[in-house]
Amino acid sequence: MSSTSVLPDPSAEPPAFTELGLRPELLAALAGLGYEEPTPIQREAIPPLLSGRDLLGQAATGTGKTAAFALPLLQRMPDDRAGDDPHALVLVPTRELAVQVSEAFHRYGKDLGARVLPIYGGQPIGRQLRALDAGIDVVVATPGRALDHIARGTLRLGNLATVVLDEADEMLDMGFAEDIEAILEHTPEQRQTVLFSATMPARIDGMARAHLTDPVRILIAREQPVAGEAPRVRQSAYLVARAHKPAALGRVLDVESPTAAIVFCRSREEVDRLTETMNGRGYRAEALHGGMSQEQRDRVMGRLRAGTADLLVATDVAARGLDVEQLSHVVNFDVPSAPESYVHRIGRVGRAGREGVAITLAEPREHRMLKTIERVTGQRITIDKIPTVADLRTRRLELTQAALRESLLEDDLDPFRVIVETLSDEFDLMEVALAAVKLAHEATLPGSDEAEEEIPQVAVRPPREGRSAGYEGRGERRPARPRTAGTTQVFIGVGRRAGVRPQDLVGAITGETGVRGRDIGSIEIADRFSLVEVPVTVADEVIAGLRGSTIKGRKATVRRDRDERR
Ligand code: AMP
Repeated sequence: MSSTSVLPDPSAEPPAFTELGLRPELLAALAGLGYEEPTPIQREAIPPLLSGRDLLGQAATGTGKTAAFALPLLQRMPDDRAGDDPHALVLVPTRELAVQVSEAFHRYGKDLGARVLPIYGGQPIGRQLRALDAGIDVVVATPGRALDHIARGTLRLGNLATVVLDEADEMLDMGFAEDIEAILEHTPEQRQTVLFSATMPARIDGMARAHLTDPVRILIAREQPVAGEAPRVRQSAYLVARAHKPAALGRVLDVESPTAAIVFCRSREEVDRLTETMNGRGYRAEALHGGMSQEQRDRVMGRLRAGTADLLVATDVAARGLDVEQLSHVVNFDVPSAPESYVHRIGRVGRAGREGVAITLAEPREHRMLKTIERVTGQRITIDKIPTVADLRTRRLELTQAALRESLLEDDLDPFRVIVETLSDEFDLMEVALAAVKLAHEATLPGSDEAEEEIPQVAVRPPREGRSAGYEGRGERRPARPRTAGTTQVFIGVGRRAGVRPQDLVGAITGETGVRGRDIGSIEIADRFSLVEVPVTVADEVIAGLRGSTIKGRKATVRRDRDERR
């Protein structure tokens, strides 16, 4: 087996998408999306996948792994696609991921006319049948539903050139091992097989040995600290849902009040969108990306240095070689696609003994990538709570207080004495001071914080160990307590007699809601009912999702467990 590392020489200029051998239609799609350069995993995976090799890749969400397998797969689709049976099958653990991956295929493959269909449990099967019947090139499916279609004869895999197992560790954790084996049985021997997994436990290795032929291995090999490369900066991360990211960025900037900050985005498109949003929110933001001329870039940098802009929104490519004296904060609007990209980004601050701050806005599902970065850099990233409206108010008052103190120490206040003296005939001195502070506060901080909205906090996932314990002795009635803190149990009125297995419950929950497999804790299956442990924050969503669906063909009673203890 050949093996490569995804940590390339940081001084080497990375290859462009054009050097990876991709066809013009795909390059055009990538340019349209504003992707400026391939991520490390894409650099390593695309060439061997284009040549038809099998591949075993260790990559978590956020590394760009979807494009790493989708682009070669689209390129390898024959132009004269004969017949209607799919050319590629991508197996994913959840409905959420099925939708996400097929959207990615649509985005990259639109000029190639790729026909892509997500199929997952919980969606009416009729629509899937019609689409499969009309002819499909790429099917992105959860294992259970794929197997349903294979059994019905509606998903025929005889023409498959490529099978991708995405987030394989997650699929195994959810109990899909047998389903995957059964599906692979229906695929041609000569297929190309690609396996991506965030972790590489022995079971994944076994699976790779059984189903991959002489694969290229792409692993995050170097886990020692990157000595001397990572500067000493305060590093923190906030977990926030995608939709709330611009608001969270604004809130964090308000509380941190940077001298000047650079915000990194993944694509040109995102740079432009975020710059516009932040300007709309009253920040002085400037965009910087690879599509701009040198003259435009110089102008932007000039404004930042002169202090007429305080926020630079940039892609990695555009920010390469940039050195801004005033920068105090680096913000990753997304978790960077590789640890060394993180190290390069945060290296922009904390130079020459100055204090630097690095902030990362991560979606909960990107939490694992943060851990990888911590491991590689050997430095801690603290997960902080997004400041609340109350925190913001406190901070604003502190700023006003600091400004007043400075004025008391530095300014000539005599010209105002007459006002205080006059007013003090009529009012108490304290009240006069309060009114003056109020006016000063409002004048320095335009925009009332009355209009500020709370940004929903999202929880860090419970540790994996907690949940895998739930799968031991499947179907056994285990002592239910103690439960992990912050979780609750959901009662579902079907159990062993109805043939319910843990994977049916996990499949139904992840299929019907945005909750992911690893968020689900212990599962108990009794004869007539089941109890599933979930984080309190998503319990209502789980209950609503399960009420709207069937489990093993039945509508079941679903509610919070009455016997609940907190
Ligand atoms: P994934 O790790 O596949 O979930 O991808 C993470 C995110 O990165 C997705 O939103 C992609 O659209 C984006 N992305 C993937 N590759 C690139 C790239 N080369 N440049 C910019 N963004 C990318």
